[in-house]
Amino acid sequence: MSADEGRERDRVRLMADLLRGGATLTDLSCPVCASPIFRLRSGELWCAQCQKKVVVVKEEEEVKEFEISSTLSQAESIILTKIWGINERLKIEESLEEIQKLSLVMSTLLDNLERIRRIGKMKK
Ligand SMILES: [Zn+2]
Repeated sequence: MSADEGRERDRVRLMADLLRGGATLTDLSCPVCASPIFRLRSGELWCAQCQKKVVVVKEEEEVKEFEISSTLSQAESIILTKIWGINERLKIEESLEEIQKLSLVMSTLLDNLERIRRIGKMKK
């Protein structure tokens, strides 16, 4: 048996071990060695050939993901600022009519905040 064959056998065994461990084969390939990449149960991408973690940048998708999550976190902090502002106003507001209005806005803001957080969690 040649050294190459031995390596190939080791590689196949490693892949089988990964699959047994709950890893799944992805349609991505390693940027270094072009072997198929596994997704470990932890969510990390792993190249069985290089024996290391791989960071694959699927550009468009990643950029979009990043934009969505940064928009969400921006929206979240704006809403939090608004809620804080309304709290401050509620503290000093005497008019029941105004309090009613502020409470309504507050309730909408809280709903939105909850929604944003739910979307954020869904993506993870
Ligand atoms: Zn590799």
